[in-house]
Amino acid sequence: MKNIKDYSLEELKEELKSMQEKPFRAEQIFSWLYQEKVKSFEEMTNLSLSLREKLTKNYTICNFQQIKKQEAKDGTKKYLFDVLDGNAIETVVMEYHHGKTICVSSQIGCKMGCKFCASTGIAFVRNLTAGEIVEQIIAVEQDLQVRISNIVFMGIGEPLDNYENVIKAIRIVNDPKGLNIGARHISVSTSGLVPRIYDLAKENIPCTLSISLHATNNEKRSAMMPVNNRYPIEELLQACKDYIKATNRRISFEYALAKENNDNIEDAKALVKLLKGMLCHVNLIPINKIENGKFIKSSNENILKFRDYLNEHGIVATVRRELGSDIEAACGQLRRKNLGGE
Ligand code: SAH
Repeated sequence: MKNIKDYSLEELKEELKSMQEKPFRAEQIFSWLYQEKVKSFEEMTNLSLSLREKLTKNYTICNFQQIKKQEAKDGTKKYLFDVLDGNAIETVVMEYHHGKTICVSSQIGCKMGCKFCASTGIAFVRNLTAGEIVEQIIAVEQDLQVRISNIVFMGIGEPLDNYENVIKAIRIVNDPKGLNIGARHISVSTSGLVPRIYDLAKENIPCTLSISLHATNNEKRSAMMPVNNRYPIEELLQACKDYIKATNRRISFEYALAKENNDNIEDAKALVKLLKGMLCHVNLIPINKIENGKFIKSSNENILKFRDYLNEHGIVATVRRELGSDIEAACGQLRRKNLGGE
């Protein structure tokens, strides 16, 4: 059956036309789905009984089942959702002073194979649909009875490897008749799929683009991220520069600091050289050690030295707070634990 949440408003209007219904019904359905967050077509009481029956017969509403919910000492929550086909995904909610940020998954598994990330090693199963991406937000808002203010595509998966569905999900989230969350409150994080960065620049969606950079030369970056063999640093940074030029948006570079790997002052110097003059911000992440991982966290002292060096040399850098590490919800720790599996 088709998932009604997989349609953008425009697509839903077309779908209704093809059912000999008036397109404004799509707006009513959107409002029931994303503002009222109903769980069945029966509840859409301003639609005719026959339309409600037709919808029930042909579409699902995709209400995720919560398999598990864990809460960290700092208030971070990690959800394991059953996506209704036997697969499970993880979604994390973090508390910041400016509101609640949700970290959504974009795929079941990931193909990128980054050496420091816990999602590596779980088989790639499939892309999430737009509706399944959006449903993570709805399910959390319903469970916590709150409004999510920020969305980061930093859960499991490579969002730009599921480009069409991620873009459609953003449009549903943005739509004033959808979840009505502005693009400026959305970050899309990528390991660096260069052609998709050029595509994103043309979408006219003012979201933040985050680039997982993590190293300053190809040798080091390829050792951490195999995607660098396909799209080396020079090509990636050129794409970033072109993105900034086309969108006038600041890029956020993620840099996970691993002891004696990419955390000394020479690396900081090289990073300054690479990013000098770009409209950007560097987000330093103390790397989280994963099971059997060879990368370990830099000392706090080194992290601060690294940050200060960047700031003193004209690159705005902040250290990301570590949230949710006691429930394995911190950066890179998400790992799909299948129903009753390891
Ligand atoms: N595939 C996308 C989004 C998912 S990862 C990407 O690569 O950007 C979200 C962020 O967490 C990325 O910046 C990623 O590099 C980082 N990350 C992954 N594993 C990590 C770890 N063990 N410690 C710290 N950050 C990690």
